[in-house]
This record gives sequence, structure tokens and C-alpha cells, in this order.
Amino acid sequence: MKNKIKSVKGTYDLLPSEIYKWQEVENKLRSIFSLYNFLEIRTPIFEKSKLFSRSVGEFTDIVNKEMYSFLDKGKESLTLRPELTASVVRSYIEHNFQQISSIHKIWYYGPLFRQEKPQAGRYRQFYQFGSEIFGSAYPESDVELIDLAYTIYTKLGLKNWTLYINTLGKKENRNKYIEILKESLFPYKDKMCANCKNRFDKNILRLFDCKNSNCKKIMNEYAPLIIDHLSNDEKDYFEEVKSLLDQLNINYEIDPTMVRGLDYYTNMIFEIRSENLGSQDALCGGGRYNNLVEDLGGKFTPAVGFAAGMERLMIAMEKENLFKNESEELDIYIAIMNKNVRNKAMQIVKEIRNNGHSVDMDLQRRSVKAMMREANKKRAKYSIVIGENELQSGEVNIKTMESGKAKTVKIDKINDFLSV
Ligand code: AMP
Repeated sequence: MKNKIKSVKGTYDLLPSEIYKWQEVENKLRSIFSLYNFLEIRTPIFEKSKLFSRSVGEFTDIVNKEMYSFLDKGKESLTLRPELTASVVRSYIEHNFQQISSIHKIWYYGPLFRQEKPQAGRYRQFYQFGSEIFGSAYPESDVELIDLAYTIYTKLGLKNWTLYINTLGKKENRNKYIEILKESLFPYKDKMCANCKNRFDKNILRLFDCKNSNCKKIMNEYAPLIIDHLSNDEKDYFEEVKSLLDQLNINYEIDPTMVRGLDYYTNMIFEIRSENLGSQDALCGGGRYNNLVEDLGGKFTPAVGFAAGMERLMIAMEKENLFKNESEELDIYIAIMNKNVRNKAMQIVKEIRNNGHSVDMDLQRRSVKAMMREANKKRAKYSIVIGENELQSGEVNIKTMESGKAKTVKIDKINDFLSV
């Protein structure tokens, strides 16, 4: 036997026996996005590498360490998308969305690629769904978006999760705060882990995410919080977001140490975390990004968005037993007795399918007994055996698999029977 080739580390197969769960969730997502009048967009799996270094941020983990980049034959650097907001913004600018309407509400769904260290809930190819609102600088749009994410997890029946919000202020003010943070933490830099030392100059906000107990202690004791360094405008904006959330009975907690990993956020940010997931507990995250469209060459357009992981959602839903244990049923299984009836029987199968009923049949020329076992395994509602007798009389016995009861029906009336 030749050597088997295995899947790439950090990737997985979604098997036919499991996919119905994904489809169930995907269908619900689509219907919830419609309720909020968001329209779907699909962008390419790969983009020019500079799109991500310019948007996500050169010094972020994603761009620095995790991108799958390659040179194509024209020596252009391309990257398998590590996130989708940058692609959506690129498309928004390229297709002059702004000229079509001053507001756009968009959602997406698809695979992303990051070369992270694989662990439970963290993969190298993973799926995200998410949405963006372009064209509103008002807290109503922040809250519409948070409400959408909140409604998704609520309608999917998930129980053990919490919404956290914070604000990063506007870029200019944030830069001032970053200087204060650096000054306050500088005396303790030498005591920090290697990763934090590395991030100190280039992405100091991420020090809040460090899990090292010593670094955590330093941060708790000495790091000033951005929430105490907001301008009056920024404070008012955050207050408006909170009061609208209260009005809609959306429960949240404020996490003043949440910074999110990407560079482009301004003002409000949020995350939904599951209590079922261990260390990779973020189900979804997002926030406002007022400068990104302009940074990528478009006209100034305020925007807000979120992205959510599918795998973590599926794991959390499994843990809460939210899936029925079965895939879709088959309407009818047709057992074909022998080669003399095969042609006619296949024609009958086709006609039943044409009428909108699902049919399966044996493709291995097995015994009728084996075919009936198969009908049971495939959870067929009904079964029929077609042999010479049936073709001669023009009638078949349709057996109800659950009760074992059979009813004689004319071959040209099988569709009527199934339609009742
Ligand atoms: P991010 O784009 O990093 O803000 O991530 C948004 C959401 O995508 C997270 O809350 C996770 O649910 C999911 N996610 C991010 N990275 C991964 C990964 N490597 N594997 C699985 N899910 C991920």
C-alpha cells in the first residue's frame, strides 16, 4: 500500500455525517441577516498582501507572523485572506459603493487562513461570518450591529455567553494614551515576558492580552486604563452606546482592559465570549473603524463591523446539546431486483426525483435483503421493491418503514402518494 497523505496541520474535514449541523446554523444566520436587512457579499479567497499590512496593521500578530503569503508567477505577493473586513472595504472602494448609496449593510461568510498554533478552537483554516455597516457615524449603528450579533447567539439557543464592551477612543487620543501607557510601564519592562518586551514599542496595547501571571500582575497594578483618558466627545459617544443597549435590554459588561488585536478600531469595541470554550473563548468580536476606508484609498466613511468564528460556535452549541442527533430523512428508497428491470426502475427513480421527492437506490447490485438494510440505515420514510411482477402489473407495494405496513399503489401514482 502506498503512503497515505494526511490533511494539513490545523485544518479539518467537515464530514457528510456532520455537515447538516453547519447547514442548520448557516440557514438560521442567513435568515437573521435578512431580518436586519443586511445583504451578502463574496470576495476572493486571496488578495494582494499589502491590503492586509495596510489595514490590519504591520505590527499585529496576524500580519507579522500568521499570514499565508506567496509570490505568484508575476512575482506579486498575494495572501490567503486572514480576515474579511479588509477585503470588504477593498471591494466597497473598488465598486464605488458610496456613490450607490450613503449607507450599506453587508454580511459575509467564508474560510480564512492564519498560521497560528493549532489548539482546541483555533485552526489554520477556519470559517467566519460577520457584517459591516458603512456610512453611519452614530451610536445607533454600533448598537444595531451589537444587537445583530446578540440576536444571532440568542436565536441559536446558546446560553452560556457574555457580551463585553469597551472603547479605544479616536486614533489621536489613543496615541496620547499609548505614550502615557509606555511611560507608566517602562520601569517594569525588564520584568515582563519576552513577548511583551517585543510588543512594548510596536503594539503595547496587546500587553493587556498577555496570559503570563507576572505580566498580568504588572498590568493590573501599573497600567492606566484608556477609559480614564477619554475626551468628553468619546465619553459621550460611549454613554450613548450604553444607554441604547440598556433600552434594548441587551445585557453587557464593560471590560476596560479589552483592546482587540487589530489596529484599525476607533471608539467602541466589543466581544462575545462563551463560558464553555476554555482559553479560546471569543465567539465574536468587532467595533468601529472610522478611518479604514480612507486609509485604503477611499473617501472618508465611518464604519462598524464584527466577525464571528463558526468552529467555536459549533463547539459551544455541541456542548449545550443544541443539535438533534440526526441528518435529514430520505423520502423513499427503491430496491431494484435485477438487470431485467433496471432500465425501467431507474426511469421511475428519475420521475420521482423530478417531482421533488428525495430518492436513493442501490448502486452495488446487492441482494434485496441488503438493500432493505440500507433503506433503514438511510432513514427512508418509504421503500419499494421493483421486480418483473411489479412492472407487469404496473403496481408496487409502498412500505412505510416505521410501521412496516405496505400499500399497493399504481406506478404512475407513486408521486401522488408521496405528495399527500
Ligand atoms: P478576529 O478576526 O481575530 O477578531 O476573530 C474573530 C472571531 O473569529 C474570534 O472571536 C473567533 O471566534 C474566530 N477566530 C479567530 N481566529 C481563529 C482561529 N485561528 N481558529 C478558529 N476561529 C478563530
